[in-house]
Amino acid sequence: MGIAFESLYSDIAGRTGKLTVGKKTIKTPALLPVINPHLQLVTPKEIQSMGVEALITNAYVFSQSRQFRERALDEGLHKVLDFDGVIMTDSGSFQLSVYGQVSITNTETLFFQRDIGSDIWVPLDIPTSPDADRQTAEQELAITMHRLAEAREVFGKDAPLAGPVQGGIFNDLRERAGRQVTDLGFPFCPIGAVVPLMESYRYQDLVSVVMAVKRTLTPSACVHLFGAGHPSMFALATAMGCDLFDSAAYALSAKEGRYLTTHGSFKIDELADLPCACNVCRTHTAEELRIAPDRERLLALHNLYVTLAEISRIRQAIFDGTLWELVDERCRGHPQLLSGYRELLNRTISLEKSDRISKRRFFYRGDESCSRTEIFRYQQMLSRLQLGNSVLVAFDGGMRNEFNDTLFFKPPFGPYPKELKETFPIGQSEIPEWDDAMVRKGCRGIKILIESHPDSRFVVSCNPCWEAIVRQELGNIEVRNDQI
Ligand SMILES: [Zn+2]
Repeated sequence: MGIAFESLYSDIAGRTGKLTVGKKTIKTPALLPVINPHLQLVTPKEIQSMGVEALITNAYVFSQSRQFRERALDEGLHKVLDFDGVIMTDSGSFQLSVYGQVSITNTETLFFQRDIGSDIWVPLDIPTSPDADRQTAEQELAITMHRLAEAREVFGKDAPLAGPVQGGIFNDLRERAGRQVTDLGFPFCPIGAVVPLMESYRYQDLVSVVMAVKRTLTPSACVHLFGAGHPSMFALATAMGCDLFDSAAYALSAKEGRYLTTHGSFKIDELADLPCACNVCRTHTAEELRIAPDRERLLALHNLYVTLAEISRIRQAIFDGTLWELVDERCRGHPQLLSGYRELLNRTISLEKSDRISKRRFFYRGDESCSRTEIFRYQQMLSRLQLGNSVLVAFDGGMRNEFNDTLFFKPPFGPYPKELKETFPIGQSEIPEWDDAMVRKGCRGIKILIESHPDSRFVVSCNPCWEAIVRQELGNIEVRNDQI
């Protein structure tokens, strides 16, 4: 019994890891497809054959179902669903958020989840709407925390309990919730009530809420972004440190005739071709898929393939240290995602703490790249360089004997001594032709160097085309235009 999480590789605040639940282990980041027992476009067995190690279903639906309640209690959830991986159950909180009430108590749903053999149980938390005022959010959070404490008390610390983090859109409440869930010792923490934010494309608020929770949650907790199912935002969420997602989107979209891709959804009626490598798309034309009698099922299969492939891509990006590049690419699929990405880039200082030291490469993808963690970390390091009385920063790479030290310049990082030429990030960075934004950012590096070495005299030698930016950033520094 019990839940444990172990992180393996990390990139930004994202990580690959292992979530152990009882005797079962799953790889993270992971997607848990949502299974509705009454509506199975794709069966759990088929889903398992696609490499899925865990799924989520709704205990409340089972508890209220004439068809499934007794069977689940007699035979267990794994037999009823014909799935021997990890099964997580939701408590009825979702119904609570939609209908305003449920006919089950906190301990009743937890006993029921235990009795049907669920692997991860969720207490009856209250998902506070993003529209709720502060007083309501605070009151509902107090109830949620009371129920979490009750769950720990009744079932003990080894019970496979999830500790949902609520608090609406109030960052301080989310922080408080993260701290309390950590104090209660929950190793598995869903971030709740974020579906309305995602449905209305409020990705900036989403980033703000998730980062607030991450500030106070123990880094050893496995974080589940509850209800996040669209593949276009998995990279962004992973970069913040979310480890699990659950998708009803594959099935709901299929029912609405929507075809998911990593850069948005399309109406199947609008597609002239199927831009995907999955089995469904390679064996059907767009027209055939549109008129297929089992169109919903085929779309659900495609949607799942796309979603799972994105999870694999994210795991590989974390392994390689290229998650920023993937986030950048994905977040250009929608203007609101781009806003979310920019919000994340505003938090470089806190993200840098968990980012890894060395990566396979740094690929400059425009102005946004100037705010990345690697640059912040590199420029902080500059203050520790040992320098003599006179220092030349040579944009053109030329040495001058009259200086104690000559540094070279690679934007957006800034000045570097030749010993760092081959090391990350100077060596492994792909920088296109210099632009103003990256040179300006590089000059900030020179500024940090100057401020941290008050006894040294600095001179910059650069092509005249960069002189204006150098002067704007560095004031009355001595600039030479001499070419070698
Ligand atoms: Zn496909």
